[in-house]
Amino acid sequence: MICRYDYDVIVIGAGHAGVEAACAAARLGARTALLTANCDTVGQMSCNPAIGGVGKAQLVREVDALGGVMAQAIDATGIMFRVLNRSKGPAMHGPRAQADKRLYQMEVKRIVEETDNLDLRQETIEDLLVESRSSDGLGQPAWQITGVRVRAGAEYFAASVVLTTGTFLQAVMHTGEAQTPGGRAGEGTTSGVSRSLAHFGFRIERFKTGTPCRLSAKSIDFSKLEVQPGDAQPQPFSFLTTSIEQAQMVCWITRTTPDIHDLIRANLHRAPMFTGQIASRGPRYCPSIEDKVVRFAERDSHQLFLEPEGRRTQEIYVNGISTSLPRDVQDKMVAMIPGLERAQIMRYGYAVEYDYCPPDQLLPTLQSKRVRGLFFAGQINGTTGYEEAAAQGLLAGANAALSQTDRAPLVLEREESYIGVLIDDLVTRGVDEPYRMFTSRAEHRLSLRHDNADRRLTPLAATLGLAQSERCIRLKAKTAEIEATLSILAGHRVNGVSLDTLLKRPEIGWQQCVDALPSLSCVSAESAMQIENDIRYAGYLLLEREQIERRRRLSHRPIPDGFDYGLVQHLRAEAREKLNRIRPQTLAQAGRVSGVTPADLAIVLVALEGCTGRA
Ligand code: FAD
Repeated sequence: MICRYDYDVIVIGAGHAGVEAACAAARLGARTALLTANCDTVGQMSCNPAIGGVGKAQLVREVDALGGVMAQAIDATGIMFRVLNRSKGPAMHGPRAQADKRLYQMEVKRIVEETDNLDLRQETIEDLLVESRSSDGLGQPAWQITGVRVRAGAEYFAASVVLTTGTFLQAVMHTGEAQTPGGRAGEGTTSGVSRSLAHFGFRIERFKTGTPCRLSAKSIDFSKLEVQPGDAQPQPFSFLTTSIEQAQMVCWITRTTPDIHDLIRANLHRAPMFTGQIASRGPRYCPSIEDKVVRFAERDSHQLFLEPEGRRTQEIYVNGISTSLPRDVQDKMVAMIPGLERAQIMRYGYAVEYDYCPPDQLLPTLQSKRVRGLFFAGQINGTTGYEEAAAQGLLAGANAALSQTDRAPLVLEREESYIGVLIDDLVTRGVDEPYRMFTSRAEHRLSLRHDNADRRLTPLAATLGLAQSERCIRLKAKTAEIEATLSILAGHRVNGVSLDTLLKRPEIGWQQCVDALPSLSCVSAESAMQIENDIRYAGYLLLEREQIERRRRLSHRPIPDGFDYGLVQHLRAEAREKLNRIRPQTLAQAGRVSGVTPADLAIVLVALEGCTGRA
């Protein structure tokens, strides 16, 4: 007998995307199943035991502002918090925290297990179940997802399925000449999902990523290393966390040497990246050590960070030497690093190649264009990183639930969030290398700071039912505090100049305002940071807002479903082919498709006005 289970939403995979997707769908009231190959690896960090960083921290705070899980989990389990880029302007600040990896995972699992409407179940999905729909000729998908079939034969049914299978589809791990099937050391791989996707006509391509070795702390000579402390006052990620109470740890810094680079060069003929054994592309901004030695041949040293994987383990993550060189070369390389002469490798570095589905096959809701009700999020969309995965997961999960109601989908604009930038980049431009977030990808980064993510997004989350009431109460109190403080600053003068005017001067900071008016010391650090940033950059923010308004007017120009670019006269063949493939929903989205010029856009606009492209 085939066992059968019914849900509203099924999420496949409990990594960073899957967890946010399942929790978001459940928060919206959908009966949700989170099916994952191993319940002991929920929220597992495959690589670096850290959350946040430049560009990524903004995503974490936005996920939090929308009611997500990641920020609360890292606040509860972080062992070293540090704001990167502090010397630069506030738009470039990147809060980052080392996690106690195991505790982080347990915290994520606890949140998942305690979420109402959500069942976590250990299942490996082998097949997607669909039924065909009659085509209405307007570009609507010809298939509707109905559920999934799991290994050993049981079936789960739901009108929405979110695929978040990470690096596990047809995955192969490489360490030197050795190749092992698996998406992460010690784990397996699946091929059924890829087969199903190919059957429904999805394009599937391959990327690669890699990870460094882990060392035993008791074999490291820390006296030779430089200590890297965290911030004296750790800054929480979640808008719900008032302070970080747990004791903090430190990291250490060492460097590669010219001898090590020589060793690597001498062994390139055994490096899968260079022998052709790995044919797929990896993240350019997160290169392996062999890649760095070749690409930056002029440099004779690279910095390495030794990061503890947790409080109750000896394992140390060596940030900076991701590699798929053979084990014997890794042994020699580590023994040549200052401070690591006697270090024992606990786990060797490796690279992994896996299937991903190019994301230009998705709508801005992250629903696929081919199969209605099938959503994609995370590494399967060609991204890399926990934060990018979490952001997509939240949006896909919310839309998987919303698509079964008569409510509008959740689509975030580039102008209002980094999540909007991420998803617009993915679905409009696609990817040709693993995509990670950078502040430079956002046109309006001064408006999209990590410190104001709650003010930008929590009101929307509250309307949808994604944000808990505690979050909304806190935001209301914070907004009131900011408004009251702004009027105090405007009303208090020093030598005839109001405090808000003084705060615009680069040499004046919040502390000087407090010195001038001690009652301001009661203002929370979080509100003070936003007030300072908003006042200091008011001129630039105004300019950004004007640009945003102009862009909005354009983006509101919709392109009808089924609009046939083949009928648009004078449109260049390249633009026609790309627009017919991507099928942008608005004129602004069409303008961002790579290879579409402003002249092409003007032609499409004329056609839209005359509706010559309507099918
Ligand atoms: P994952 O975290 O991979 O989670 C996928 C989940 O799906 C897993 O729980 C898995 O068990 C489950 N699953 C898969 N298939 C099935 C199935 N058929 N049925 C049921 N469950 C299934 N990111 C960086 O930013 N920098 C790096 O340097 C970096 N290096 C990496 C190195 C390695 C070796 C690996 C494996 C990953 C690396 N990453 C790196 C990527 C990072 O781990 C991912 O971006 C992130 O984990 C993606 O989250 P996800 O939720 O999409 O997928």
